[in-house]
Amino acid sequence: MEIVTYLIAAIVAFFGFMFVVGAQGQLIRVVVGVILFAAAGVLIYLTRVRPKKEEITHVQKIDLSGDVQLEHLQCRACGGALSRDNIEVKAGAIFIECPYCGSSYQIEEAPKW
Ligand SMILES: [Zn+2]
Repeated sequence: MEIVTYLIAAIVAFFGFMFVVGAQGQLIRVVVGVILFAAAGVLIYLTRVRPKKEEITHVQKIDLSGDVQLEHLQCRACGGALSRDNIEVKAGAIFIECPYCGSSYQIEEAPKW
């Protein structure tokens, strides 16, 4: 989607350029051209800012779910208490490696033990 936004911004900036070049002394065309340039700048600015916010939100979600799971997380095989070090998140799935009995398995959904 970023490329599309950059393309739109480029087209808007191009029209702004055309307005300023073809102003022929008319102030209104220069004003419109400047506004189009500003709109293109805002588009590029928003495109650059937005992805960072999404990344931060994603990380926070993983941390939150990790905290919730840690409250009652026990090994499926031996019942030993598991800590954050025993949990790995790979591609959205949660993997457990028990330090007591050495068993490792994957949790597909959030456990409710
Ligand atoms: Zn175990």
